[in-house]
Amino acid sequence: MSTVVLDNVSKVYPGGHLAIDRMSLRADKGELLVLLGPSGCGKSTLLRMIAGLEEITSGDLWLGGALANDLAPRDRDVAMVFQNGALYPHRTVRGNISFPLEVAKVAPETVRERVTQLSKALHIGETLERRPGTLSGGQRQRVAMGRAIVRQPSLFLMDEPLSNLDAGMRTELRMEISSLVRSLGVTTIYVTHDQVEALTLADRIAIINRGVLQDAGTPTQVYNDPATAFTAAFLSSQQLNLLAATVRAPQNRFILLDFGPHQITIPWSDPRAYAISQYVGHQIIVGLRPDYLAPVPETFDGPVFLGRVRALEYHGHEWLAHVESGIPTVTVPEPPDSGRHAGDPAAPASGGRVMTTLRRLFPGIGPAPDPEPEPEPEQAGGTHRRADLIVRVGSRPVWRAGERVRVGVDAGRLMLFTLDGSRIDPPQR
Ligand code: ADP
Repeated sequence: MSTVVLDNVSKVYPGGHLAIDRMSLRADKGELLVLLGPSGCGKSTLLRMIAGLEEITSGDLWLGGALANDLAPRDRDVAMVFQNGALYPHRTVRGNISFPLEVAKVAPETVRERVTQLSKALHIGETLERRPGTLSGGQRQRVAMGRAIVRQPSLFLMDEPLSNLDAGMRTELRMEISSLVRSLGVTTIYVTHDQVEALTLADRIAIINRGVLQDAGTPTQVYNDPATAFTAAFLSSQQLNLLAATVRAPQNRFILLDFGPHQITIPWSDPRAYAISQYVGHQIIVGLRPDYLAPVPETFDGPVFLGRVRALEYHGHEWLAHVESGIPTVTVPEPPDSGRHAGDPAAPASGGRVMTTLRRLFPGIGPAPDPEPEPEPEQAGGTHRRADLIVRVGSRPVWRAGERVRVGVDAGRLMLFTLDGSRIDPPQR
């Protein structure tokens, strides 16, 4: 089974659109690598380049240790399944699955055996003599998968194969894909925009935004220890709190994250303290998932944000509170603006539009020593706004709208990012 290595690969479409920007990534033998990102970020382009359906503009693709940039698709030993796995309507399920083997002139006995085995694994054994038109969407996708994988390719590429199915069917088929590709040991690259699908399926996830690799790691690595603010936000099931803070070190006694109306201290003994101290006098972005915040009593002696509950939201298994705390929040930093069009001038080193907006809001931004933050102006649009903290209240609505509350902060879970969204304390990979 094949190892896939992308080395500094870029794709520029005719017309100059830069769809993939210097991407380096690998999928090991037998690994299930998920490419995750919003629509239009370049996932399919990447998959199609690996399949040989799209030319690589620059960089190298290695398949099974051999340079594959110019290899014809049929010589790559790759099978692909798309969103709408198109089937031959006039052939039965058996005829569809067996087709690639018939073309390869495999002995009829072997064909029969493999199709039977695979159809059982895919739970479509009873449909073998039916035509695709009589099957459900889920069954059709199973047949498409069976047809792709029946000739035991070295590499299995799947482009959003579940996105046209209903939620129940998606969950069921997701588990089956997972056990099927693992039992076959075939290297699989799977494209999705669904973070739950990625977290539940993958051995490793590569997160992409606007053609740029944001992070790659196991599901627990990228979820708990994300390399970028984009990754943290994209993998959050509820909206991630991204808070603007100024780093201070009063008399060098500890690190202080100054959120304006509230502060959190970080002792020098904290493993992140040295990395954060490099930003004394600068603004940073602090990421906090709603479940790292919680209602706490007066007696709680850990870090707290004080605020007023603006609204409570029922999510079935939990309540979320929107709390006005006066802390300025930011939207997810995008990669530098330029570069989306090949040939544009290079982006400013520290993140184009985000820096410009933040400079306006924090006039002291840059290497100046410990500037005092200005009072926050309200922003219309842009990347910076005064928004509510989203707090996970738990399974009971212990707060009421309008109530003044104490929000406990799990300071060990703070995620610390520079203004362009990179992690300040390096993630473990
Ligand atoms: P995703 O699979 O993540 O939704 P795609 O790889 O399909 O994203 O597309 C990435 C970007 O490249 C998008 O902006 C898309 O409009 C553009 N793109 C895709 N195919 C072409 C093409 N043939 N010509 C020009 N631009 C394209």
